[in-house]
Amino acid sequence: MSALLELRGVRAAYDRITVLHGVDLTVGPGQVVALLGPNGAGKTTTLKVAAGIHPASSGRLVLGGRDVTGAAPRDLARAGLCLIPEGRGVFPNLSVRDNLLMMTFTGRAREEIEEIAFTRFPVLAKRAGQTAGTLSGGEQQMLALARGLATDPAVLLLDELSMGLAPLVVARLYEQVAEIAASGVAVLVVEQFAAAVLGIADHAAVLVRGRIERQGSPDDGLRAELSSLYLGSA
Ligand code: ATP
Repeated sequence: MSALLELRGVRAAYDRITVLHGVDLTVGPGQVVALLGPNGAGKTTTLKVAAGIHPASSGRLVLGGRDVTGAAPRDLARAGLCLIPEGRGVFPNLSVRDNLLMMTFTGRAREEIEEIAFTRFPVLAKRAGQTAGTLSGGEQQMLALARGLATDPAVLLLDELSMGLAPLVVARLYEQVAEIAASGVAVLVVEQFAAAVLGIADHAAVLVRGRIERQGSPDDGLRAELSSLYLGSA
Protein backbone atom coordinates (compact mmCIF):
# COMPACT_ATOMS: atom_id res chain seq x y z
CA MET A 1 0.00 0.00 0.00
CA SER A 2 1.48 3.34 -0.98
CA ALA A 3 1.46 6.10 1.61
CA LEU A 4 -0.74 9.12 1.09
CA LEU A 5 0.82 11.19 3.84
CA GLU A 6 4.35 10.90 5.12
CA LEU A 7 6.28 12.92 7.65
CA ARG A 8 9.97 12.12 7.53
CA GLY A 9 12.25 13.26 10.31
CA VAL A 10 10.14 16.35 10.96
CA ARG A 11 11.54 18.85 13.41
CA ALA A 12 9.65 21.99 14.36
CA ALA A 13 10.18 24.89 16.73
CA TYR A 14 8.43 27.91 18.19
CA ASP A 15 10.89 30.78 18.31
CA ARG A 16 14.03 28.84 19.08
CA ILE A 17 12.48 26.15 21.19
CA THR A 18 12.34 22.85 19.36
CA VAL A 19 9.14 20.93 20.11
CA LEU A 20 9.36 18.17 17.48
CA HIS A 21 12.63 16.27 17.35
CA GLY A 22 12.36 14.16 14.21
CA VAL A 23 8.86 12.74 13.78
CA ASP A 24 8.28 9.91 11.29
CA LEU A 25 4.69 9.03 10.44
CA THR A 26 3.02 7.33 7.50
CA VAL A 27 -0.69 7.12 6.70
CA GLY A 28 -1.97 5.05 3.81
CA PRO A 29 -5.32 5.21 2.01
CA GLY A 30 -8.10 3.67 4.05
CA GLN A 31 -5.97 3.71 7.17
CA VAL A 32 -6.63 5.33 10.55
CA VAL A 33 -3.45 6.30 12.38
CA ALA A 34 -3.75 7.55 15.95
CA LEU A 35 -1.17 9.99 17.27
CA LEU A 36 -1.37 9.87 21.04
CA GLY A 37 0.50 11.42 23.89
CA PRO A 38 0.26 13.67 26.93
CA ASN A 39 -0.35 17.41 27.06
CA GLY A 40 2.23 19.46 25.26
CA ALA A 41 3.86 16.47 23.55
CA GLY A 42 3.62 18.18 20.16
CA LYS A 43 0.59 16.43 18.67
CA THR A 44 -1.14 19.59 17.43
CA THR A 45 2.16 20.91 16.12
CA THR A 46 2.58 17.70 14.12
CA LEU A 47 -0.83 18.29 12.49
CA LYS A 48 0.04 21.94 11.84
CA VAL A 49 3.21 20.91 10.06
CA ALA A 50 1.29 18.28 8.07
CA ALA A 51 -1.22 20.95 6.99
CA GLY A 52 1.48 23.50 6.16
CA ILE A 53 0.31 25.91 8.86
CA HIS A 54 3.56 25.67 10.80
CA PRO A 55 6.90 25.21 9.06
CA ALA A 56 9.13 22.22 9.64
CA SER A 57 12.62 23.37 10.59
CA SER A 58 13.90 20.21 8.95
CA GLY A 59 12.54 16.97 7.56
CA ARG A 60 10.18 16.27 4.68
CA LEU A 61 6.45 16.29 4.10
CA VAL A 62 5.26 13.97 1.34
CA LEU A 63 1.68 13.91 0.01
CA GLY A 64 0.63 11.27 -2.49
CA GLY A 65 4.27 10.49 -3.24
CA ARG A 66 5.09 14.13 -3.97
CA ASP A 67 7.48 16.13 -1.82
CA VAL A 68 5.40 19.10 -0.62
CA THR A 69 7.73 20.36 2.10
CA GLY A 70 7.20 24.11 2.51
CA ALA A 71 3.99 24.18 0.44
CA ALA A 72 1.32 26.70 1.49
CA PRO A 73 -1.76 25.41 3.35
CA ARG A 74 -3.96 26.40 0.41
CA ASP A 75 -1.92 24.28 -1.99
CA LEU A 76 -1.96 21.32 0.38
CA ALA A 77 -5.74 21.70 0.69
CA ARG A 78 -6.00 21.69 -3.10
CA ALA A 79 -3.93 18.52 -3.15
CA GLY A 80 -6.54 16.84 -0.93
CA LEU A 81 -5.46 17.56 2.61
CA CYS A 82 -8.10 18.63 5.15
CA LEU A 83 -7.45 19.63 8.77
CA ILE A 84 -10.29 19.72 11.27
CA PRO A 85 -8.80 21.68 14.13
CA GLU A 86 -9.45 21.35 17.82
CA GLY A 87 -12.52 23.42 18.64
CA ARG A 88 -14.26 22.20 15.48
CA GLY A 89 -14.01 25.23 13.25
CA VAL A 90 -17.70 25.74 12.57
CA PHE A 91 -19.30 29.19 12.39
CA PRO A 92 -21.50 29.33 15.51
CA ASN A 93 -23.72 32.20 14.36
CA LEU A 94 -24.53 30.65 11.01
CA SER A 95 -27.10 27.93 10.46
CA VAL A 96 -26.07 24.37 9.71
CA ARG A 97 -27.21 24.91 6.11
CA ASP A 98 -25.11 28.08 5.74
CA ASN A 99 -22.08 26.37 7.28
CA LEU A 100 -22.42 23.76 4.55
CA LEU A 101 -23.24 26.33 1.86
CA MET A 102 -19.88 28.02 2.47
CA MET A 103 -18.20 24.86 1.25
CA THR A 104 -19.47 25.51 -2.29
CA PHE A 105 -16.16 27.37 -2.70
CA THR A 106 -14.78 23.91 -3.45
CA GLY A 107 -16.77 23.94 -6.69
CA ARG A 108 -19.27 21.37 -5.48
CA ALA A 109 -22.96 22.13 -5.78
CA ARG A 110 -24.92 22.89 -2.64
CA GLU A 111 -27.19 19.93 -3.20
CA GLU A 112 -24.24 17.57 -3.44
CA ILE A 113 -22.65 18.92 -0.27
CA GLU A 114 -25.93 18.62 1.63
CA GLU A 115 -26.46 15.11 0.34
CA ILE A 116 -23.02 14.00 1.53
CA ALA A 117 -23.57 15.68 4.91
CA PHE A 118 -27.15 14.55 5.50
CA THR A 119 -26.58 10.99 4.34
CA ARG A 120 -23.70 10.47 6.72
CA PHE A 121 -25.16 12.57 9.54
CA PRO A 122 -28.98 12.50 9.28
CA VAL A 123 -29.33 14.56 12.46
CA LEU A 124 -27.81 17.53 10.60
CA ALA A 125 -30.76 17.50 8.19
CA LYS A 126 -33.11 17.87 11.13
CA ARG A 127 -31.04 20.75 12.43
CA ALA A 128 -30.45 22.44 9.07
CA GLY A 129 -32.03 25.76 10.07
CA GLN A 130 -30.52 25.87 13.55
CA THR A 131 -27.45 28.02 14.28
CA ALA A 132 -24.34 25.86 14.67
CA GLY A 133 -23.58 27.35 18.11
CA THR A 134 -26.79 25.85 19.49
CA LEU A 135 -25.96 22.30 18.36
CA SER A 136 -24.71 19.79 20.90
CA GLY A 137 -20.94 19.28 20.98
CA GLY A 138 -21.26 15.99 19.11
CA GLU A 139 -23.47 17.56 16.43
CA GLN A 140 -20.97 20.41 16.00
CA GLN A 141 -18.24 17.86 15.48
CA MET A 142 -20.43 16.09 12.89
CA LEU A 143 -20.91 19.42 11.11
CA ALA A 144 -17.14 20.00 11.14
CA LEU A 145 -16.62 16.53 9.66
CA ALA A 146 -19.33 17.15 7.06
CA ARG A 147 -17.65 20.42 6.05
CA GLY A 148 -14.38 18.56 5.74
CA LEU A 149 -15.96 15.85 3.59
CA ALA A 150 -17.28 18.52 1.24
CA THR A 151 -13.67 19.11 0.19
CA ASP A 152 -13.44 15.47 -0.95
CA PRO A 153 -10.27 14.94 1.08
CA ALA A 154 -7.65 12.31 0.36
CA VAL A 155 -6.12 12.93 3.78
CA LEU A 156 -8.10 13.96 6.84
CA LEU A 157 -6.34 15.33 9.92
CA LEU A 158 -8.45 15.36 13.09
CA ASP A 159 -7.41 17.15 16.27
CA GLU A 160 -8.97 15.97 19.54
CA LEU A 161 -12.33 14.96 18.14
CA SER A 162 -13.38 13.77 21.59
CA MET A 163 -12.78 17.06 23.38
CA GLY A 164 -15.58 17.72 25.88
CA LEU A 165 -17.85 14.97 24.55
CA ALA A 166 -19.48 12.05 26.34
CA PRO A 167 -17.86 8.64 25.67
CA LEU A 168 -20.90 7.30 23.79
CA VAL A 169 -20.93 10.34 21.48
CA VAL A 170 -17.21 9.92 20.87
CA ALA A 171 -17.65 6.23 20.08
CA ARG A 172 -20.33 7.07 17.48
CA LEU A 173 -18.17 9.76 15.91
CA TYR A 174 -15.28 7.33 15.61
CA GLU A 175 -17.57 4.80 13.91
CA GLN A 176 -18.17 7.48 11.29
CA VAL A 177 -14.45 8.19 11.05
CA ALA A 178 -13.84 4.47 10.46
CA GLU A 179 -16.40 4.52 7.64
CA ILE A 180 -14.81 7.59 6.09
CA ALA A 181 -11.44 5.81 6.16
CA ALA A 182 -13.03 2.69 4.67
CA SER A 183 -13.99 4.79 1.65
CA GLY A 184 -10.25 5.21 0.98
CA VAL A 185 -9.37 8.37 2.92
CA ALA A 186 -6.13 8.42 4.93
CA VAL A 187 -6.98 9.59 8.45
CA LEU A 188 -4.53 10.88 11.05
CA VAL A 189 -6.18 11.38 14.44
CA VAL A 190 -4.67 13.20 17.38
CA GLU A 191 -6.02 12.33 20.81
CA GLN A 192 -4.76 12.83 24.31
CA PHE A 193 -6.91 10.08 25.77
CA ALA A 194 -6.51 6.94 23.78
CA ALA A 195 -9.36 4.57 24.48
CA ALA A 196 -11.87 5.99 22.03
CA VAL A 197 -9.67 5.98 18.98
CA LEU A 198 -7.73 2.77 19.63
CA GLY A 199 -10.86 0.78 18.83
CA ILE A 200 -10.75 1.91 15.19
CA ALA A 201 -7.06 2.69 14.66
CA ASP A 202 -4.97 0.45 12.39
CA HIS A 203 -1.78 1.92 13.74
CA ALA A 204 -0.86 4.08 16.72
CA ALA A 205 2.11 6.26 17.59
CA VAL A 206 2.93 7.60 21.04
CA LEU A 207 4.50 11.04 21.07
CA VAL A 208 6.32 12.17 24.20
CA ARG A 209 8.16 15.49 24.38
CA GLY A 210 8.38 15.74 20.62
CA ARG A 211 9.63 12.21 19.99
CA ILE A 212 7.76 9.11 18.91
CA GLU A 213 8.49 6.67 21.70
CA ARG A 214 6.63 3.76 20.23
CA GLN A 215 4.57 2.95 17.19
CA GLY A 216 2.79 -0.11 15.93
CA SER A 217 -0.55 -1.84 16.03
CA PRO A 218 -2.76 -0.75 18.95
CA ASP A 219 -2.09 -3.94 20.89
CA ASP A 220 -1.89 -4.65 24.60
CA GLY A 221 1.75 -3.55 24.83
CA LEU A 222 0.91 -0.15 23.43
CA ARG A 223 -2.13 0.19 25.68
CA ALA A 224 -0.05 -0.73 28.73
CA GLU A 225 2.58 1.83 27.79
CA LEU A 226 -0.07 4.51 27.37
CA SER A 227 -1.67 3.83 30.72
CA SER A 228 1.69 3.95 32.50
CA LEU A 229 2.49 7.18 30.66
CA TYR A 230 -0.71 8.87 31.78
CA LEU A 231 -0.51 7.50 35.32
CA GLY A 232 3.09 8.67 35.46
CA SER A 233 2.21 12.17 34.31
CA ALA A 234 -0.87 12.54 36.54
P1 ATP B 1 -2.22 19.50 23.86
O1 ATP B 1 -2.86 18.18 23.89
O2 ATP B 1 -2.08 20.14 25.21
O3 ATP B 1 -2.76 20.44 22.81
P2 ATP B 1 -0.05 18.83 22.09
O4 ATP B 1 0.57 17.50 22.23
O5 ATP B 1 -1.00 19.06 20.99
O6 ATP B 1 -0.69 19.21 23.46
P3 ATP B 1 1.33 21.13 21.08
O7 ATP B 1 0.12 22.00 21.17
O8 ATP B 1 1.78 20.71 19.75
O9 ATP B 1 1.15 19.84 21.98
O10 ATP B 1 2.52 21.87 21.84
C1 ATP B 1 3.85 21.36 21.90
C2 ATP B 1 4.73 22.35 22.64
O11 ATP B 1 4.83 23.55 21.86
C3 ATP B 1 4.20 22.77 23.99
O12 ATP B 1 5.28 22.90 24.87
C4 ATP B 1 3.56 24.12 23.72
O13 ATP B 1 3.62 24.93 24.86
C5 ATP B 1 4.42 24.67 22.61
N1 ATP B 1 3.65 25.56 21.72
C6 ATP B 1 2.54 25.23 21.04
N2 ATP B 1 2.08 26.27 20.32
C7 ATP B 1 2.95 27.29 20.54
C8 ATP B 1 3.04 28.64 20.07
N3 ATP B 1 2.16 29.13 19.21
N4 ATP B 1 4.08 29.40 20.52
C9 ATP B 1 4.98 28.89 21.38
N5 ATP B 1 4.96 27.63 21.86
C10 ATP B 1 3.96 26.83 21.45
